[in-house]
Amino acid sequence: MTQRASQYEPQSELQGGSRPLNFTFQSPVPRYLVPFNPRRVLHRFTDVLVLGGGIAGLRAALEVPPHLSVLVVTKDAMGESNSRWAQGGIAGVLGPDDRFENHVDDTLRAGGSLCDRAVVEMVVREAPARIQELMDWGTQFDLEQGSLALGREGGHSHHRIVHALGDATGKEMMRAISARVCAMSNLQTLAGCFTLDLLVHEGRCRGALVWHERSGMVMIWSRETVLCTGGVGQLYRESTNPLVATGDGHAMAYRAGLPLRDMEFIQFHPTVLYIAGTGRSLITEAVRGEGAHLVDKNGYRFMNDYDSRGELAPRDVVSQAIVSQMDKTHHACVYLDLTHMDAARVRARFPGIAERCAQFDIDIHRDWVPIRPGAHYMIGGVTVDAVGKTEMDSLWGAGEVTSSGLHGANRLASNSLLEGLVFGAHAGRNAAQAASDRTAERLEALPIENPSLPPNHEPLDLADIRNSLKSVMWRHVGVRRNREGLEEAARDVDQWCRYVLPRQFDHPTGWELQSMLTVGRTIIEAALARPESRGVHLRTDHPAPAMGFANHHVTLRRHSG
Ligand SMILES: Cc1cc2nc3c(=O)[nH]c(=O)nc-3n(C[C@H](O)[C@H](O)[C@H](O)COP(=O)(O)OP(=O)(O)OC[C@H]3O[C@@H](n4cnc5c(N)ncnc54)[C@H](O)[C@@H]3O)c2cc1C
Repeated sequence: MTQRASQYEPQSELQGGSRPLNFTFQSPVPRYLVPFNPRRVLHRFTDVLVLGGGIAGLRAALEVPPHLSVLVVTKDAMGESNSRWAQGGIAGVLGPDDRFENHVDDTLRAGGSLCDRAVVEMVVREAPARIQELMDWGTQFDLEQGSLALGREGGHSHHRIVHALGDATGKEMMRAISARVCAMSNLQTLAGCFTLDLLVHEGRCRGALVWHERSGMVMIWSRETVLCTGGVGQLYRESTNPLVATGDGHAMAYRAGLPLRDMEFIQFHPTVLYIAGTGRSLITEAVRGEGAHLVDKNGYRFMNDYDSRGELAPRDVVSQAIVSQMDKTHHACVYLDLTHMDAARVRARFPGIAERCAQFDIDIHRDWVPIRPGAHYMIGGVTVDAVGKTEMDSLWGAGEVTSSGLHGANRLASNSLLEGLVFGAHAGRNAAQAASDRTAERLEALPIENPSLPPNHEPLDLADIRNSLKSVMWRHVGVRRNREGLEEAARDVDQWCRYVLPRQFDHPTGWELQSMLTVGRTIIEAALARPESRGVHLRTDHPAPAMGFANHHVTLRRHSG
């Protein structure tokens, strides 16, 4: 361990660059999760294959012209995704006194020194067109006196967030975009379809191996593939993400040898409803924007002790303050206090939150709302360029599974739906163009297979390992990190990896656990490889940013040797 410590001290050669780390797990990560043989499975063929049906995947699919076929596969029901649950809205320069430069500056300021300025400018300038397009397709954003109602969230210098149904933007936006997608005659969707691995032949992505709940294993062969599998929130005991967010796309890309960049940067949302025994729901920061206070168990309004901006400090600052106050008061949560606010306005602006709390007998006009931080958004992922191209031939990516350079070390609120829209459009358009260019090529099954291993009959309690992983990630790789805790987490996860990763499971519970362990281990490794604090990555043993890491991305790649 001492050896590892010195390996991760800031080094001058890191200045201004990216040092790819070839990361080797203590037990090797198998290339494919399951055995398969092309002679014994079903085959499907499509020009463009889109893995994931959130905002990024559907936006990509919409770019595929009628002369090409497109297939969208989703792990669960089509509607189940992070996109569906988005609350606050989509950022875009739409107000008369706002400028592109303001949105660019706000994004760069949030992201520290790690944003790619050219990408930020491109995304910001495209935002109004992407939002207009959503309206043209039927999305009903909230209006105020006949014009778009523009909200303002932490880190934004101007009002520029369009929202729908008060606090259910994702639901409305996905309703409209799904209806548009369903009207495409060249598009098919396959729900309940777990993507296991990317099929790669001679360095080029040729589609994916999937497991469908009715058909079993299927090899889907495509000319071009777009990876849009979303986030990793389920790796943490506390999370705002739905159950589908287990990092499968990150893990399959890693197994296929693609680089994962900036995996240490995970944004924790400070205010997640904390009611023991229930799923966690996000309480949008717009509630604090409207005047809600954060109080500890004694009713003490503590935020001003940590930051002069009080409750409106950036997300990472508020999350860190809450965790510190929970420690100080030896209490499992803190509270949002809305009791002093105008009840009618609160009900109109936050109907979903009022209803969710009411289900647990919490009246937000009378009671404090118990909250604590939870894993919310994965900034890191598969590196893509400005048109959504990954390093692998015929593989594109968009949305939360990718690292595009937009967010840097911290995501500005409401920039991620925008990223999904912009990169979904770019990746879809370019994948479709590439597929069009290849239509003369025969689309056929290729000789890729993976042998079965001797079965291991020792029973494993997968739920127990999953819960243990989530607890370790929360305890040691959560809002606050230090070397000692990260190394302890690495030892635990390595131990589980040793006996879980080599197995060949025949059900999604096992595959998800394998993805979660793989992704969790890369997050730990990346967090160790950044001995400084920057953006959402707080190392209590290195509380300041280190010069040597100002422009340094941590890039991890599976060692294939
Ligand atoms: C509660 C909540 C509120 C949010 N609010 C906002 C907001 O107001 N504004 C904002 O900008 N951002 C917000 N975000 C973040 C934003 O919603 C996400 O970053 C964005 O929706 C990600 O879109 P995506 O298409 O990349 O992934 P997702 O929308 O998560 O879609 C992922 C898709 O991949 C599929 N998938 C995953 N694994 C597999 C597999 N193995 N096989 C097949 N399919 C698979 C899933 O089924 C799903 O269809 C919020 C997130 C949450 C959780």
